[in-house]
Amino acid sequence: MEKRCISSMNLDELGELVRSMGQPAFRAKSIFRWLHQKQVTAFSEMTDQPKAFLARLDEEFFIAAPVIRRRQQSKDGTVKYLFQLADGNCIETVLMRYHYGNTVCVSTQVGCRMGCRFCASTQAGRVRDLLAGEIASEIYAVQRDTGERVSHIVLMGIGEPLDNYDEVLRFLHLISHPEGTNIGMRNISLSTCGLVPKIDRLAEEKLQLTLSISLHAPNDAMRSSMMPVNDAYPVAQLIAACRRYQKTTGRRISFEYSMVRGVNDSEQTARELADLIRGMGAHVNLIPINPVDGSPYSASDDANVRRFQQTLEKLGVNATVRRRLGSDISAACGQLRREDANAQ
Ligand code: SAH
Repeated sequence: MEKRCISSMNLDELGELVRSMGQPAFRAKSIFRWLHQKQVTAFSEMTDQPKAFLARLDEEFFIAAPVIRRRQQSKDGTVKYLFQLADGNCIETVLMRYHYGNTVCVSTQVGCRMGCRFCASTQAGRVRDLLAGEIASEIYAVQRDTGERVSHIVLMGIGEPLDNYDEVLRFLHLISHPEGTNIGMRNISLSTCGLVPKIDRLAEEKLQLTLSISLHAPNDAMRSSMMPVNDAYPVAQLIAACRRYQKTTGRRISFEYSMVRGVNDSEQTARELADLIRGMGAHVNLIPINPVDGSPYSASDDANVRRFQQTLEKLGVNATVRRRLGSDISAACGQLRREDANAQ
């Protein structure tokens, strides 16, 4: 029998489990705390639990605990990990140190099937979804490695979070649980390439997280040339879903806009973008594209990025140019995993 991931179970499910094993109910909370607060990597570390009970758990379950396969540290303090999962698959996780605290960028899938033309993570397609406990274990492994607390999370690593909806939702509840590591929803950003029905579903959860949309272009011709997902959910539908999301949750949305030289970085495009999203109170994050092998795109130069930002601001749209952390260690997700695969 294949072992199940105990790190993915919520308190109710652990309650069911301990009951089914004839154990007192309070053990559910103890185990949850061992897993998500103390973040142990083996059952034997749960020192206040009966040995026979732990042995039974060990037979049926595993604790998600990735091993560090590669680790790169940038001059600016950014650390990029290639983690190996229990089944041998690899994912990437990045730690970024900001003045307000440590942010971890987590992967949600092994690979990705969205096919964005500028993105390294999608080039070999999707292998499998991550389990909720595996996503949480990325954060725990970083905390273990650095001895530092993580205060913020962005779901911007490998994978499309809304293409792994149930496990991602489960992860969000695990990671924000007061009996666990307790990272508040307000400190979490979820980024999506724009799966409209899932955005509507997420709105109904009424979470306090920040939804971030990878927009990258203000019209269908341009966006479809960069992102195949736009053929299924064109710009007008996506923006309508964003407005519904804001209305339902009362939360502002932010837009990611990766700037590609000669493709989406003209003054005219900035005006078109402003017309599209003005009045939403949304924030635009501009970032020059990180060139990846096998992609025809190159980055807009800094002057162009600044001009684009100024045009947006002039037209009443908030925009900031993102600092590029870890550019000396190819911190754009997907690159390390691919390098590793190519080296095999
Ligand atoms: N699938 C989700 C989250 C992962 S990608 C999404 O699409 O939002 C995280 C962000 O990085 C997205 O905005 C994505 O479009 C962007 N991105 C991917 N590859 C990039 C690259 N080479 N340069 C700059 N941004 C990139």
